[in-house]
Amino acid sequence: MSTYQPTIGLEIHAELKTRTKMFCDSLNDPDERHPNVNVCPVCLGHPGTLPVANKNAVEAVIKVGCALQGTINKESKFDRKNYFYPDLVKAYQISQYDKPIVSGGTLRGVRIMRVHLEEDTGTLGHGDHASLVDFNRAGVPLMELVTEPDLRSAEEVAAFARELQLILRYLGVSDANMEKGEMRIEANVSLDMGTKVELKNINSFKAVEDAIAYETKRQEEALSRGEKVHQETRGWDEVKRKTFSQRSKEEAHDYRYFPDPDLPPFTTDVFDIEKLRAELPELPAAKTERLKKEYALTAAQAELLAGDLAIAEFFEDAVSELRADTPNAKTATLYNYFTSDLRGLMNETGVPLSEIKIDPEHLAHLAVLVDGAKITSRQAKDILKKMFETGLDPEDIIKNGKIGLSDIGEIKAVVLAIIEQNPAAVADYKKGKTASLQFLIGRAMGALQGRARPDMLKEVFEKNL
Ligand code: ADP
Ligand code: MG
Repeated sequence: MSTYQPTIGLEIHAELKTRTKMFCDSLNDPDERHPNVNVCPVCLGHPGTLPVANKNAVEAVIKVGCALQGTINKESKFDRKNYFYPDLVKAYQISQYDKPIVSGGTLRGVRIMRVHLEEDTGTLGHGDHASLVDFNRAGVPLMELVTEPDLRSAEEVAAFARELQLILRYLGVSDANMEKGEMRIEANVSLDMGTKVELKNINSFKAVEDAIAYETKRQEEALSRGEKVHQETRGWDEVKRKTFSQRSKEEAHDYRYFPDPDLPPFTTDVFDIEKLRAELPELPAAKTERLKKEYALTAAQAELLAGDLAIAEFFEDAVSELRADTPNAKTATLYNYFTSDLRGLMNETGVPLSEIKIDPEHLAHLAVLVDGAKITSRQAKDILKKMFETGLDPEDIIKNGKIGLSDIGEIKAVVLAIIEQNPAAVADYKKGKTASLQFLIGRAMGALQGRARPDMLKEVFEKNL
């Protein structure tokens, strides 16, 4: 067993969801498919142009700072980080060096060092004979959050990053989709706060966990062989499932940071920070806790709901309708239909929650029907499918369609008829052959075209045999 304690610090970038870019009025549209459409002389870095900071982007970072209980610095400024790369035509990135917008803060017990604002670069596409640059992303506002090296395992890192992603979504400041590159994680990994290795090109939560697990093991093995860990940047190879050396400390950049002369230092006093703080939405951790208590859910169930704001809202709307109908109703049935059957339909058809036709109120009605044993779970499945297709209320579907209520009178009539038509099976049952009852139930179910609950049929048979 290893005696080393992994010590991990994160640098997480997130593209902010503003209408326009960080320093110009070109559109910030991550879904634009044609290259070099949302560009202008400012984000193309033409000489003689002047950047103007996007107030909404600054406000977004302030909101994040408030959500993480950081200090919103009164005085802040932008600096130039100098380096050349084909996706950065200016040969400098506007970032923040010694005066970030946010200092300090905490999330999941991990200390936040800072949250600052910078601009994204363009994107490169590599062909066989040439590489092409798309500047649609150049100048898009990018938030960077840096933690202290307080994380201890790959699992902790993934949980931290997932919660941060949710917070950004709850705040409405970023979609933070890792697969789309809207959120990017760099992990600095060391053992016992020794020499750190920086991990890059991690494109999913799974890759974050895998890369860190691999890297801690690689370092442990090096140390146990009496070797040293070298300070370097390593990439994650998704195919080989290994980290590989990209750049050693000796080749590390000197970015020659200096204050951007085109952007004067600014003060956050122009924002009503107390108001922003007061208007923060309920955050993921608090929502999970409340859902758990309020609806008697397990931690996993509450987490699943809180994992998507739209889903949590739909569920709560449905529950409040359910309780309006049946004040003491249990929410378990509703939760199950919502998370299994309804989600199954959404996955099958690819229709997102924001576009489904089912009203929360109708889903509540369905749960009432199931709980009141008015319909079987088989019927509920069919009804839900119809609700999904038509947007109709379950009662209307039952009235109009073939799916009938379990009318006890109709069931009894069928049961009596089946008893009369099958004297041999009835005799066997009376002699103690229980399988005969199953046979009779099957017959009745067939006559009712599957519209009755098996347990109800069994009960009616037992009464009448
Ligand atoms: P640098 O000066 O090398 O850029 P910083 O102090 O700015 O280092 O920290 C960058 C990131 O590296 C932070 O996320 C920080 O938590 C992390 N970090 C710093 N020292 C270590 C260490 N010994 N092990 C793991 N992570 C570290
Ligand atoms: Mg640093």
